[in-house]
Amino acid sequence: MSTIFDRILDGDIPCHRVFENDHVLAFMDISPISAGHTLVIPKERKAKLHELSDEAAAELGRVLPRIARAVCRVTGTDDYNVLQNNGRTAHQAVFHVHFHIIPRPSQTVGLGIHWEPI
Ligand code: 5GP
Repeated sequence: MSTIFDRILDGDIPCHRVFENDHVLAFMDISPISAGHTLVIPKERKAKLHELSDEAAAELGRVLPRIARAVCRVTGTDDYNVLQNNGRTAHQAVFHVHFHIIPRPSQTVGLGIHWEPI
């Protein structure tokens, strides 16, 4: 089944690309939890992590820390979550493997809103 990420990979719909090689694409989430929220996807078209080939999984593992370093650099924080959902009951909405890198800047709630103590 084709997903929105297939259409991004095929160049049919735009995305803000931050990294690309022969096996992996990373781009900004369209609905970010925090500034810099980045999605990292394999070009291999599989819905769930355990379906990936060893080669695709190895390449993802190789580049994820590199992309996380770049996210830290541009957002100015080195605190972040890496989230990866598999299946509807695990809250996966797009059925193409993806990793979320979600920066967690201190004292920031949501999208760049700085919460002052009351
Ligand atoms: P999931 O819940 O499947 O782990 O997360 C899917 C993510 O894909 C969500 O954070 C959502 O905002 C993001 N997303 C869905 N459609 C698009 C799109 O067309 N472009 C981009 N850049 N992100 C998308």
